[in-house]
Amino acid sequence: MSKNLTKRSEDYSKWYNELVVKADLAENSGVRGCMVIKPYGYGIWEKMQAGLDKMFKETGHENAYFPLFIPKSYLSKEASHVEGFAKECAVVTHYRLKNAEDGSGIIVDPDAKLEEELIVRPTSETIIWDTYRKWIQSYRDLPLLINQWANVVRWEMRTRLFLRTAEFLWQEGHTAHATEQEAIAEAEQMMNVYADFVENHMAVPVIKGTKTESERFAGAIETYCIEALMQDGKALQAGTSHFLGQNFAKAFDVKFANKEGGKEYVWATSWGVSTRLMGALVMTHSDDNGLVIPPKLAPIQVVIVPIYKGLDQLDEISEAVMPLVKELRSKDISVKFDNRDTHKPGFKFNEYELRGVPVRLAIGPRDLKNGTFEVARRDTLEKAVVNAEDIVAKIEFLMEDIQRNMYQKAFDYRASHITEVDTYDEFKKVLEEKGGFISAHWDGSKETEERIKEETKATIRCIPIDAKEELGVCMVTGKPSNKRVYFAKAY
Ligand code: AMP
Repeated sequence: MSKNLTKRSEDYSKWYNELVVKADLAENSGVRGCMVIKPYGYGIWEKMQAGLDKMFKETGHENAYFPLFIPKSYLSKEASHVEGFAKECAVVTHYRLKNAEDGSGIIVDPDAKLEEELIVRPTSETIIWDTYRKWIQSYRDLPLLINQWANVVRWEMRTRLFLRTAEFLWQEGHTAHATEQEAIAEAEQMMNVYADFVENHMAVPVIKGTKTESERFAGAIETYCIEALMQDGKALQAGTSHFLGQNFAKAFDVKFANKEGGKEYVWATSWGVSTRLMGALVMTHSDDNGLVIPPKLAPIQVVIVPIYKGLDQLDEISEAVMPLVKELRSKDISVKFDNRDTHKPGFKFNEYELRGVPVRLAIGPRDLKNGTFEVARRDTLEKAVVNAEDIVAKIEFLMEDIQRNMYQKAFDYRASHITEVDTYDEFKKVLEEKGGFISAHWDGSKETEERIKEETKATIRCIPIDAKEELGVCMVTGKPSNKRVYFAKAY
């Protein structure tokens, strides 16, 4: 199988689009901006879901499900929320089709107009807070810690597979608390959960921070985020967690009786990560040969390819391989023995390289005689010959080592792409020539932020959580600033 992948250095964007399709992750559909996620891509997403879901449950959350449709009046109740989402809403106006009287085909039945239009959820705060009014009466009902796995629709104008689609899959957490401090602690906790998942499962290092007012979620008091850096030097927002204050409780009249018997509005958070994480995974690790998937998310962690002439040899190899397959499975290592006789070993090698399977074993007649396997690791493309009695230990080592090595490589790349600058000229030069995160002083105003965005296309990715107090002056206006923020061009 020929891969014919465009090289990253030639055209990074084209490389990404080709790879997602050729590696069988996803493809464009007949519906504008909406993708088909193929089984291999969905397999990786399922592993992401499983990892995140476990972490949500460990931090006390439960899953529930709310309707896909939101009555227009609900969405309108929180003013800044509806303003933020209005431009990208899909709206259901009718509930029936009929045959046109002139025989021209099926049309929308004008008599089947909905009394109130329904919005296909772009996010579920409004329908959920309308429900929470019924669920929350007293401080005993709090905290309420709910997560939903769902699809949402945002009518995006410029879409790209996984990174930005009109319909995407995600999880959205929606929690309710008795106090402001508790809600803030929850929003921070979930940012940390996301960072933990993205770093330790996806092997993608992230910067934790808060968004500036203009980049904040519509309806939030504070938006916490994790930002990752892609191999072309552009940043990607990988996850967000919002402290919503009492905005939604006030809009939906959700009050609780406190211990003293008084009535108070409830405090809220919401947080989400989406199928965009698939894009982050591909763009962080993959190379000119195809995907590189970290062992913790690989649907197939080890593939075994037999090299044989004739079915007798294949039988012999199968017999030698079966106990290994069994032992690996007993250790929860997912393994595929690819004994298809419709494809040559070379084709299979290429295919698994393209799909980013972390470890490939090959076994031929000579290995059979010598009691060995050829072991190839996808991250470094290194090969070694390993004795059969050492093979399980070697694979266990590789599962850890590949995960660690991929993180380290991404971490080193990012470390070499964070640049501190003190002047606007330097800023533009670094942005143009090197990319990456640029750490600089900013005067805190919307106007300066907007001017930088217009002039350079760079945005403030976040105000880092661990930013040190450092007196300086804004690189653009010269006004005082007490900490540096991270800028980058972003997806
Ligand atoms: P938000 O509700 O806007 O805070 O977004 C929640 C998560 O979904 C964030 O991690 C976003 O990066 C991600 N996201 C937002 N819009 C899209 C989109 N069009 N396609 C894929 N992911 C998205």
